[in-house]
Amino acid sequence: MSHTGSSGGQPGPQRTTDRSTALSEPARAYAELVAGNRRFVDGAPRHPNQDAGHRAAVADGQHPFAVIVGCSDSRLAAEIIFDRGLGDLFVVRTAGHTAGPEVLGSVEYAVTVLGTPLVVVLGHDSCGAVQAARESAATGTAPSGHLRAVVDAVLPSLRRAVSEGVDDIDGIVDIHIAQTVETLLGQSPVLADEVARGRCAVVGVSYRLAAGAVRPVAAVPAGFATVETPASTDPAAPATV
Ligand SMILES: [Zn+2]
Repeated sequence: MSHTGSSGGQPGPQRTTDRSTALSEPARAYAELVAGNRRFVDGAPRHPNQDAGHRAAVADGQHPFAVIVGCSDSRLAAEIIFDRGLGDLFVVRTAGHTAGPEVLGSVEYAVTVLGTPLVVVLGHDSCGAVQAARESAATGTAPSGHLRAVVDAVLPSLRRAVSEGVDDIDGIVDIHIAQTVETLLGQSPVLADEVARGRCAVVGVSYRLAAGAVRPVAAVPAGFATVETPASTDPAAPATV
């Protein structure tokens, strides 16, 4: 990644001076993502910014309009499901969209150094990381190796689901997405400050693997996106495994 606006070294609070993009505001950035997802769902993607000319145009610097903190699931490729191209999205993915220090640092880099006005937490139905955490909690056994770190990072969401009486996997996923939004803001005063100043928004969305559509489940500031409940999703959408 390029340190646009920085002379290198420690990423600081410098903001890029090129804010000419029409997507520099949080609401417009979110609207663009929603529009791209709609094209993808409808089977009419435009594949913007994927040509050789654009590749050359962005070689000298990047101004992504959204940070995606998504699950690593292979069916959740950000540029595909939001129908975007090179230089559009700053993507950070871990299994279960867990938000450790490197993830937080990457988000802060995009928001403060690159001036990205929107952070999207991207989870999905039937998430394997959430299922693994659920199994671990149910059996009282921890997975081996570093997978344990993933499970441990998801467990607070499991406990929250229990306290709220939610026990279906996709309901737990929604809670985990909202929990990740809160974690980002709670663990990153830098991000929280950008949001408080109105320069950035954080939205959690849940993606349906079969339907291809995203549904907002959490937003900061409140009201930034119309948060939907699972009951409001398309009942005709096929179930996923
Ligand atoms: Zn997942």
